[in-house]
Amino acid sequence: MAVTKCIGILTSGGDAPGMNAAIRAVTRSAIYNGIEVKGIYHGYRGLITGDIKPFKTENVSNIIQQGGTILKTARCKEFETPEGRRLAYETLRSEGIDALVVIGGDGSLTGARIFAQEFDYPIIGLPGTIDNDLYGTDLTIGYDTALNTIMEAVDKIRDTASSHERLFFIEVMGRDAGFLALNGAIATGCEAAIIPEISTEIDQLKELVENGFRKSKNSSIVLVAESPTTGGAMQLAERVKNEYPQYDVRVTILGHIQRGGSPSAQDRILASRLGAAAIDALLEGQRNVMVGIRNDEIVYVPFSKAVKYDKPINRELLETLRRLSI
Ligand code: ADP
Repeated sequence: MAVTKCIGILTSGGDAPGMNAAIRAVTRSAIYNGIEVKGIYHGYRGLITGDIKPFKTENVSNIIQQGGTILKTARCKEFETPEGRRLAYETLRSEGIDALVVIGGDGSLTGARIFAQEFDYPIIGLPGTIDNDLYGTDLTIGYDTALNTIMEAVDKIRDTASSHERLFFIEVMGRDAGFLALNGAIATGCEAAIIPEISTEIDQLKELVENGFRKSKNSSIVLVAESPTTGGAMQLAERVKNEYPQYDVRVTILGHIQRGGSPSAQDRILASRLGAAAIDALLEGQRNVMVGIRNDEIVYVPFSKAVKYDKPINRELLETLRRLSI
């Protein structure tokens, strides 16, 4: 097994609060183990352009509490081509970087998997996404903070919704996963959550209205996961306005505030644990795995599983929401 002397670290795809805590943990843990660290800026684009800088412990001082990512992030089309990945590989060789730690979501880890196979190159992935949609880990870095942001925003909307006796559709992020919408709805006492996992099975809106929601309440809030499958909050609100004109319907799209802010204690701790474990994984000779957490224990999940399988939604949560919103 080749000894790792120098690692590169990058953040890629959608940013998530806690990425900085992960960068700090990887950097410090590597240096603690005598491994050199290089920070790669702007995700995979920085690998292609050579936007790279040596990292010492002080480069990651005072960042654990900061949202966003000091390494910046980007979406890089060129990395999706064999030519782009070849350039990235040449950069890694010329920089003397013998392993990579990639912090990102589903897309970033898919890129990592392809690159690792193509060049037989060791990569460790960390799940960094507010969506919590990576298979094999109970939590992803950024999810808890985003959930708390949603909770605070929905609480405020509840005040105005109940004053006016309105029906609100609030759209939250989540792409193809309903974790933010479902758990956000439970945390704020919402009447329902419309999520992509269930949209394919039933017409959730019809069920909602026909079950007589809002009858005994002075406001109703429905969280909607942004997704082509749910149609998003705008489209659902239009349908309600047309089919049930008696409702006073409003829409709020929470948008990018969900990505920002200082990471929660849970995200900082998760990022610190996963970041330190990424270096343990390399030292143990692991490669091409995502470091995750299950039942409060560190696990290594092969990229092939982490990006291929869909993480199932917990049906018990759906049932709890339904029962508590009567
Ligand atoms: P996220 O990591 O948040 O899911 P994206 O899906 O936008 O974000 O992916 C981030 C980046 O990962 C892309 O811009 C691209 O550089 C790389 N990537 C994604 N999918 C692939 C792929 N199939 N092959 C190579 N690189 C990919």
